[in-house]
Amino acid sequence: MKRTLVLAILIACGALSLAIDAQPPAQQGPKVVEVEKVKDNLYMLKGGGGNTAVYVGANGVTVVDAKNPGWGQPILDKIKELTPKPVTLLINTHTHGDHVSGNVEFPATVDIVVQENTKANMEKMDIFKQNNGRGMPKRTFKDKMTLGSGKDRVDLYYFGRGHTNGDAFIVFPELRVVHAGDIFSGKNLPLLDMNNGGSGVEIGDTLAKAHAGIKNVDTIITGHSTLMTWNDLAEYAQFNKDFLRDVRAAATTGKAADAVAGTWKPAEKYKNYNVQDARLKTNVAAVYKEIGK
Ligand SMILES: [Zn+2]
Repeated sequence: MKRTLVLAILIACGALSLAIDAQPPAQQGPKVVEVEKVKDNLYMLKGGGGNTAVYVGANGVTVVDAKNPGWGQPILDKIKELTPKPVTLLINTHTHGDHVSGNVEFPATVDIVVQENTKANMEKMDIFKQNNGRGMPKRTFKDKMTLGSGKDRVDLYYFGRGHTNGDAFIVFPELRVVHAGDIFSGKNLPLLDMNNGGSGVEIGDTLAKAHAGIKNVDTIITGHSTLMTWNDLAEYAQFNKDFLRDVRAAATTGKAADAVAGTWKPAEKYKNYNVQDARLKTNVAAVYKEIGK
C-alpha cells in the first residue's frame, strides 16, 4: 500500500515536471520589424536583435543577419512587403544568437555563407543542433569572397580577430555600403567574446585593416546602432587602439586591472562614445589576460 502511494506520488511528480517543461514560453510582445531605407534596393531591418540588411538584387534578395530566435519569419514577412523576389542568399556577420538564430526559419533553398571560424562557432550552438543542422552555413570563406556579379555583387571580407574570431564585413559595392556587424556595433567599448575567439589586443588593428582594405564605401550598417560613415570606422579603429595603448601603459607600471578600469577615461574627441563601467572593467581584464598580466 505504502509502496503504491510512493509510486503514485513519483508518477504525479513526473507528470507535473513534464507539464512544466511543456509549457509554452512566457507571453512575448508582437515581433515588430522596423524598416529603414538605406539606399535604393537596400534596407536596414531593426528590432529583435542585430540590424539586418536586405538587398534586393536583379535576381533575388540577399539578407545579412537573421536576429534572435523566432525573428526569421518576421524578417521574411517584412521582405515580402518590400519585394516579390525570393530570398536567395543569407550571410551572417558572426556567430551570436541575436544575429544567426533566425536562420533556422529561412527556406532550405537559401544559400547560407559565413566566415569559416564563424561556421565552427555556430556548430557549438544548441539552436542548430535542435533543428538538425537547418540554418547552418552551406559555404564558407577565409579572407575574401565575391558572390554574384553586376548589381547582385556582394563582397565578403575577414581581417582578423575582434568581437569574435569570425567577424565578416559584407560589402554591397554597387551602393558603397558595408554591413560591419558587431565588430562595429556602435560607438562604444566593444563586447569581446573570448569564448568565440574575440581579442581586445587585435580589434583595433583589425578595424584599421578593414578601413584600409575595403575601397569605395561611404555608409556603414552597424551591428546594433544607427548608420555610420566610413570616417566613423577610422575613428572607431583609433578609439580601440588608444584604449589598448592606455591599458598596456598602465599594465607596464604594475597598476591593477580594477584600478585602471576605475580611472580610465576616453579622450575628449570620443566624448559621444558610450563607455559603460561594467564593459570597461571586463575589457581591461580581458586585455590584461591577453598580454599576460
Ligand atoms: Zn555579437
